[in-house]
Amino acid sequence: MNFLSGGPIHKFLRGWAIFPFKRTPHYWHPVHRSDGKAFRSVCGIESKINEFAPPLGPGNFPLCKKCKRTAPAITPKEKMTFVEQER
Ligand SMILES: [Zn+2]
Repeated sequence: MNFLSGGPIHKFLRGWAIFPFKRTPHYWHPVHRSDGKAFRSVCGIESKINEFAPPLGPGNFPLCKKCKRTAPAITPKEKMTFVEQER
């Protein structure tokens, strides 16, 4: 089976997404830091994004099992995010 991510999400706020250099979609919440925009996944990973490396839609990649336990379920919209998304 081929896994396909969604397109880049340029105005990512929170939700399921694949962050740069990762292959698993996690559920991300924003955290406020002085040095830029950072996010923390439900399973505890902290990661930063910028305009050159936006997160990608989860596509059909298997979701992080740890996040899945407590994060909101993925919406059909998130699953098929091939365009910009704001929520
Ligand atoms: Zn996770």
